[in-house]
Amino acid sequence: MDRSTVRTDLFIEGTGLHTGKTVSVHIRPSSGGITFIAGGRRIPATPANVVDTRLNTTIGDGTASVSTIEHLMAALYGLGITDCDIEVCGPELPAMDGSALPFFLRIREAGTEALGSPSPPIVLGETVRVEEGDSWVEAVPGPFSLHYEIDFADPAIGRLQYDFHGTDFAGLIAPARTFGRMQDVQMMRSAGLALGGGLHNAVVVDHDRVVNPEGLRFPDEYVRHKVLDFLGDLWTLQSPLQACLRAFRANHTLHNRLARAIFQAMQG
Ligand SMILES: [Zn+2]
Repeated sequence: MDRSTVRTDLFIEGTGLHTGKTVSVHIRPSSGGITFIAGGRRIPATPANVVDTRLNTTIGDGTASVSTIEHLMAALYGLGITDCDIEVCGPELPAMDGSALPFFLRIREAGTEALGSPSPPIVLGETVRVEEGDSWVEAVPGPFSLHYEIDFADPAIGRLQYDFHGTDFAGLIAPARTFGRMQDVQMMRSAGLALGGGLHNAVVVDHDRVVNPEGLRFPDEYVRHKVLDFLGDLWTLQSPLQACLRAFRANHTLHNRLARAIFQAMQG
């Protein structure tokens, strides 16, 4: 594939998940990789610039930071965009509907433009694996494939697995929304977090039931969303990854540790 950027400037506004405030993002064409701009500071979207992975993926440089970059990064992956400036007004990206689809559709509508230089895939020489407790992620040399497995105690979620073959990101992965537990939402709210979160931008489960009146977009929406997060977190590499990817009960921290390890391996 070739390097690619957005054809025109675009402006997206919405509510921040954690602050509940209106936040906006300007995406502009560039040829210098994917770069976030916050408080006038330029922060390249690289694995090493990820500074917090506890609730979402936050990028920063020690002075400025932007939270919840993963769903927009997944949309850029889905569109093959390797280069753009993303200027954010506010501490986090807008939550939109909790999936990558609104970002994906807006950027696709604005159009993409090939930059006329190749973006060679990252080809692994050996397996890269990171683990924490009984959670792990790995990238094995081979053609692209992605297998994700989750195992939640909540009966509404349970054990699910999904195989993504690299085609139809827009139809199969982009619409899958983030999810959380009713009790965690209440706890985060009382801690002043997730103030903008609700049934309009997340699937909320309570033990064995889905609280959202509209239900799920896919019976396995939860694991599809984890695939979305994984693809977004790995897109900090800003190049397609030619590898067999596998994840078990993983999270943003493991996704980022894998991206860092692959980046290291690329440097030899
Ligand atoms: Zn997510």
